[in-house]
Amino acid sequence: MYLTARNVTKRFGSFIALDNVTVSIGPGEFVCLLGPSGCGKTTLLRLIAGLADLDEGDIRLKEEDLSRTPARKRGFGIVFQSYSLFPNMTIAENIGYGLKIRNTPAADIAARVTELLELVKLPQAADKFPGQLSGGQQQRIALARAIAVEPRVLLLDEPLSALDAKVRGELRSEISHLQRQLGIPTLMVTHDQEEALALADKIICMNQGTVVQTGSPEDLYNRPATRFVADFIGTSNLVETARVREVQPDLLATRPEGEDAAYVACIRPEHIILNPAADGRATVRSVSFLGNMCRVEVDDPLGLLTVETHGAKSYREGEAVDLTIPREMCTWVADDISEGAS
Ligand code: ATP
Repeated sequence: MYLTARNVTKRFGSFIALDNVTVSIGPGEFVCLLGPSGCGKTTLLRLIAGLADLDEGDIRLKEEDLSRTPARKRGFGIVFQSYSLFPNMTIAENIGYGLKIRNTPAADIAARVTELLELVKLPQAADKFPGQLSGGQQQRIALARAIAVEPRVLLLDEPLSALDAKVRGELRSEISHLQRQLGIPTLMVTHDQEEALALADKIICMNQGTVVQTGSPEDLYNRPATRFVADFIGTSNLVETARVREVQPDLLATRPEGEDAAYVACIRPEHIILNPAADGRATVRSVSFLGNMCRVEVDDPLGLLTVETHGAKSYREGEAVDLTIPREMCTWVADDISEGAS
């Protein structure tokens, strides 16, 4: 691994914000730290950046122990959520700032600034001030400033969350493109699962100061390890084992050994097949048309299930339906949170 934070613990008074957390980033890898508000993502990023001190554990870049190295000597680039550009400097001065304090010759700075402005697609912005740019443009400049010094690692703390949906989508694909082009190992904090699924080579899913699961986006979506992950990433129908046993025992075929209470069935909405049937076992409760698909909620003996349909067939509230859940589309996940907890 390229960068590793190993057995990291961080306390604020008696509160444990990070409890023995280990994460790593491989060479050139794009890693997302994903989890709900307050789970410790930003704290972990700040410890890796050197903006806060760890209580236990260490941070290493290959063999080099960075645990006590000040932030400015780690050689990392950082982009924060809010536009952190210097308001009284031009865009060119902002981008060149890191190079200037490293005593880079002015002509080299100018050349690098021009190159970076091309890279972030704002070639005309050099002489403007941050206040003259939109939020999305400012974040591109913040990105250019972070990569100007050829950082050993790029750290992104919710860089897209202050932007509106359209700009966020555009900048998301540009960040992805840029990161692949430059190959800078990147760690991004986000609470947005869609963003993590779209960008990451590897997702580290956190909850309450611990790592719950690490894997590729496909792993976390298709093989969530626990109920928390299944619930947090994508939409899931989660059904207690006892109810499956009673209503549709064929789904139990794929269940691991163990107590009923240890597992719940996770069935994704796109894996349930709906069919109109006057004597069907379920009833349509609501239908939402979402353009490219319909989201249908059905009252089924398994519980209230969410189903996504893409066909031409439309459903009405109150209509009786039958549903099929292919056995292999039912994933059994460890029940790490009690019913009703978030
Ligand atoms: P968000 O997405 O809301 O920023 P997060 O996952 O990044 O959430 P952190 O900011 O890392 O969460 O905070 C983790 C926990 O540590 C929270 O409960 C927070 O209140 C607490 N915390 C963070 N910084 C401090 C601090 N300086 N003093 C005391 N508690 C803190």
